[in-house]
Amino acid sequence: MSATFNVTMPSGASWTPTFVTALDQEKCIGCGRCFKVCPRGVLALVGIDEDGHQIHLDADEDEDEGEYEKKVMTLAHQELCIGCTACSRICPKKCYTHAAASM
Ligand code: SF4
Ligand code: SF4
Repeated sequence: MSATFNVTMPSGASWTPTFVTALDQEKCIGCGRCFKVCPRGVLALVGIDEDGHQIHLDADEDEDEGEYEKKVMTLAHQELCIGCTACSRICPKKCYTHAAASM
């Protein structure tokens, strides 16, 4: 039998991190809000071209504009997530799914 992974806070309270498990790119509008609040570098914005292929975007340059149909967020480093849920709290389109981890 597995138990849920919990953290005991300095106050003594128990906290259950819920780690990001999925991001619905059909709903995502590429606003970038989640990227700005993620403290762990989990997320990356990519372009999607007319064939559905992902195009790497350089955050500092606009020169890629025109090569893609839309921008969407991706889980570039899901393994770095600490389960804070800041991304889903700020997402206006409810793209995120989270789950607690088992021990
Ligand atoms: S839960 Fe926190 S660490 Fe994980 S992707 Fe969202 S903002 Fe980043
Ligand atoms: S906040 Fe939501 S809609 Fe905006 S880029 Fe992130 S996942 Fe997409």
